[in-house]
Parts: sequence; C-alpha cells; structure tokens
Amino acid sequence: MGNLVAIVGRPNVGKSTLFNRLTKTRQAIVNETAGTTRDRQYGKSEWLGREFSVVDTGGWVVNSDDIFEEEIRKQVLLAVEEADVILFVVDVMNGVTDLDMQVAAILRRAKSPVIMVANKTDNHELQYNAPEFYKLGLGDPYCVSAITGSGTGDLMDLIVSKF
Ligand code: GDP
Ligand code: MG
Repeated sequence: MGNLVAIVGRPNVGKSTLFNRLTKTRQAIVNETAGTTRDRQYGKSEWLGREFSVVDTGGWVVNSDDIFEEEIRKQVLLAVEEADVILFVVDVMNGVTDLDMQVAAILRRAKSPVIMVANKTDNHELQYNAPEFYKLGLGDPYCVSAITGSGTGDLMDLIVSKF
C-alpha cells in the first residue's frame, strides 16, 4: 500500500478521534464506551503535499478481559507487520496502565518507527503528566489534543518525515 500509518493503543485513549482529525472525516465512530468502531477503518490523509493512508484499529466488542487483550494484541501485531509508521496513542489524563505496558512491549520490537502520541493534552497543565510515558521505553511522548487539534500539525510533520 505504501505510506501506511497505523493508530494503535488501548480503548478510549482517542484513537478514532485522532483518525478523524488526521483524515478530516467523521468516518470512525467515536464513543464514550469502548467497542464501537469496526475492527479496522482505513482513510486517506495528506500533509505538505504528501499522501498517506491511515488505519484506525480497535473497534471490537468487549466480552471478557481475555478476549479484549487478545484482540488488542492481534491489532498491534498486524500494525507492526503492515504499517510504515505506528502511532501508539496513550492518554495523559489517565497515565500509564497495564494495557499500555503490554502494547508497548510489542511495539518496542517493531521495525517500523513508533511515535508515542500523548493524547488528551487539552491544556498546558496536562503536559506535565507526559514524562510518565518515558517508562514505556518508546522515546519521547508527543503531546496532542485530538479534540482541540493542538499539536496535531507538529505530529503530521513528524509522520511525513518518517516515510
Ligand atoms: P478510542 O477507543 O481509542 O478510539 O477512543 P475514541 O476516539 O472513541 O475516544 C474516547 C473518548 O475520549 C471520547 O469520549 C472522546 O471524545 C475522548 N477524547 C478523544 N480525544 C480527546 C482529547 O484530545 N481530549 C479529550 N478531553 N477527550 C478526548
Ligand atoms: Mg475507536
């Protein structure tokens, strides 16, 4: 496919909201409860004249914690296999969770570049929560707010610099 960006992470961190912002659509369904997006949703994006595809992952129905973790694992492994750039979305309002650690463990072995996106940085105070994400071992967290759009231009710059 060429220039494919995959968005991964645990539920409710804002993957679909970020997908909609990057693709300037409302394709992905954003919901207060996890499990409403289809498994994988593809869209197109363009930045500085460079086109790329974006895949949003993680819209499954939660039956049990086991199935849930297995589904996340599956989506992350797929992303590692097919994506040219991986956006690992975490949530500055919630901090690091066990699921974040599990996802990070897989992503640390990825050959493609991983950009850790510290989403929900709606204001400057929330930036102070971001250093916690260094413990995931994936480098610098990039603070954005998918809702306000803050930081997403810089994120796009970074994404296209990786192709
Ligand atoms: P997903 O499960 O990772 O796809 O997360 P969603 O995109 O469905 O978002 C989950 C919840 O987080 C929704 O209520 C969103 O409105 C909210 N959300 C997403 N991005 C942001 C953000 O930048 N700031 C805040 N405050 N909330 C956000
Ligand atoms: Mg979603």
